Amino acid sequence: MPELPEVEILRHDLDKEVEGRRVKAVEVRAARVVRRHRNRKDFAARLVGRKLGPASRLGTLLLLDLDGEGHAALVVDLGAGGRLLKERSAAPVDKQTDAVLTFTVGGDLRALDLGEAGELFVAAEAELDELAEERRGSIDPLADALTWQAFNARLESRQEGLRALLTDRSFVAGIGPVYADEILWGSELRWDRRAGSLAAQEVRRLHRAIQEVVQEAVRLRGSSVGDTPWLDLRGNKGEYEPQLNAYQREGQPCRRCRTPLVGERTERGETTYYCPKCQS
Ligand SMILES: [Zn+2]
Repeated sequence: MPELPEVEILRHDLDKEVEGRRVKAVEVRAARVVRRHRNRKDFAARLVGRKLGPASRLGTLLLLDLDGEGHAALVVDLGAGGRLLKERSAAPVDKQTDAVLTFTVGGDLRALDLGEAGELFVAAEAELDELAEERRGSIDPLADALTWQAFNARLESRQEGLRALLTDRSFVAGIGPVYADEILWGSELRWDRRAGSLAAQEVRRLHRAIQEVVQEAVRLRGSSVGDTPWLDLRGNKGEYEPQLNAYQREGQPCRRCRTPLVGERTERGETTYYCPKCQS
């Protein structure tokens, strides 16, 4: 499942691999992924003939700038398990493929497994501004240089448990079950600690752990765990998995104190993994 580090890896790779390419054809295989448009044809018409510019991110949304009149971008929401693949045009098309952009030179960009939540759309300037506005209050650990004091000010008023807060995308962008457990393990805090109850030292640890985990996950090209593991633009797995200290390590010894880690159901019915001894 793509979380913030995986989306950032894609952004970086798209910049390298598709920037400057011109769209020759668009094939939408699953109409639901272009549901913001009148129909598939309307979506395709806004892309064909246009050249892709630099890739950027709004939280976990990927934006590929389009040349031409006014500011417009192709927006990619990967949903719960979507991915993008750069492929030769002659390569067989997987049946999970939702849409294919073919470039005049240099193969295809394919979107797969976007599911019910994922989508593709072309947004003009006003809509891009709206998308940015919707995400303005949310912390982006890779984009915002937020001091721990500013972070503390945001935490103080919050009453929910830390894991619920970390995975709330209106608070911080793109932290899902994998990195939430890693961040909490790294900061030696329990998942159900009330956010507003942390001492200054604990806020500092949490602030630092968010930065460290997210940056290290980007450096190691993401985590490919679970039934539908994350794959990058070239179809390669990430290398962060051996670094996981908590996620899905139930029963295994804590790497700090050797206590077996536990898995516990959260109020949302997800399982969280933590050390019952050194996380408090
Ligand atoms: Zn421990």
